Amino acid sequence: MDFEVVIIGAGVAGSSLALALAKEGMDICLIDKGAPEIKGDIYKGRTAALNLASLDILEELGVRKGIQNYLTPFKNIYVWDSEGTSSLEFSSDEIGQPKLGDVVTNNAILSGTLSLLPNHKNLRFLSGDSLKTLDPQEESMKVCTEGGESISCKLVVGADGGLSSVRELSSIKIRTWSYEQKALIANLKAEKSHKNTAYQVFTKNGPIALLPMKKDNEEYLSLVWSADTDYAENLLALDEPSFLNELERKVESVVGKLSLNGKISSYPLHQLHAKDYYAKRSVLIGDAAHSIHPLAGQGLNLGLGDVEALANRILRNRRHGEDIGSEKMLIEYSKARKLINLRMMGFMEVFKNGFGSTNPWVRLGRNMAFGVAQKAPGLRKKFIKEAAGII
Ligand SMILES: Cc1cc2nc3c(=O)[nH]c(=O)nc-3n(C[C@H](O)[C@H](O)[C@H](O)COP(=O)(O)OP(=O)(O)OC[C@H]3O[C@@H](n4cnc5c(N)ncnc54)[C@H](O)[C@@H]3O)c2cc1C
Repeated sequence: MDFEVVIIGAGVAGSSLALALAKEGMDICLIDKGAPEIKGDIYKGRTAALNLASLDILEELGVRKGIQNYLTPFKNIYVWDSEGTSSLEFSSDEIGQPKLGDVVTNNAILSGTLSLLPNHKNLRFLSGDSLKTLDPQEESMKVCTEGGESISCKLVVGADGGLSSVRELSSIKIRTWSYEQKALIANLKAEKSHKNTAYQVFTKNGPIALLPMKKDNEEYLSLVWSADTDYAENLLALDEPSFLNELERKVESVVGKLSLNGKISSYPLHQLHAKDYYAKRSVLIGDAAHSIHPLAGQGLNLGLGDVEALANRILRNRRHGEDIGSEKMLIEYSKARKLINLRMMGFMEVFKNGFGSTNPWVRLGRNMAFGVAQKAPGLRKKFIKEAAGII
């Protein structure tokens, strides 16, 4: 069996890349071990704050129209620290945009991408199969699956998440460390309107994000509470009223009384960055290349940026009759994305460490820096544009 590109992993990154290439007529094989059809509630699970650049990518793929009802615009960002010494507030009005992005669940985006896959006869989706071996040759790559498929292609793409098999089989090294934190994820109803604001408070046990959501015209909030592991375990052991009391206290009742809408789920947090994004005839995108702290819900923005950058280069080489798995192209992709992904990861670390620190010198520096950012119009605009992904 021959394909031009084999993509391992049909999460948002892998399924988006499959659409981007298949719609240009390429022969694509997409493989996922988990058969990620959306079962149950589309509003459940992880949430992302998609910036304007990511929304443009989904528009280009034809995905945005189908998920329009699941998108909630966020127009303002309000960040503060629980000591009451520092805060930042930004609005889309300041850069002449109607919004900074949309909040949406991972499930909603997946429902959009996966529903479009059958439209492409040149795209084969092997659902419920997984990668077994990779055998790179000079001109091609041989991919074998646990289900017994043997596929030849020009390039294999690892879109198989944080525990990427493509990364491991390609002997790509990683740099990783644990944050010693867990993220608690839940849907909340609030007494007051969220006013399409993304709230973020930094407490001494970790940052808490409340992202604005809407379902059937009813407002709710998506909680991402990143808490030190011991404290997170204590929170998970609390009964519902005590959990909500603690949360209201930590977010200083910024949206009034809170109630839970469903269950709380949790996952351990770590930072991961692949030292290279490519090896011979294989390349990484999305969480397979980088996992970042979810404090601002930015993980998917980076993944969709990878999709666009890689798709453009593959299609360009193909148009020019050049090898779509050439080392030259993979180096070019890797360099371009590393720069952007590392900058965002660094930015998140500055925020996390700057706001999260109890060190008085760090706090003094942070307060001075954010004082300047709050007042300097040029810097404010740059920051807002960065958050909206329009730089
Ligand atoms: C539990 C959890 C909660 C999160 N919450 C947030 C959040 O609140 N905010 C935020 O910004 N980010 C969050 N993230 C991160 C964000 O969801 C990711 O950045 C994003 O989903 C990554 O997309 P992806 O397509 O790269 O990888 P994934 O979504 O991980 O998709 C990988 C796919 O590869 C498949 N796969 C894996 N191995 C194989 C194999 N060997 N063969 C075939 N298929 C394979 C899997 O079945 C899966 O479908 C969370 C991540 C997790 C795991």
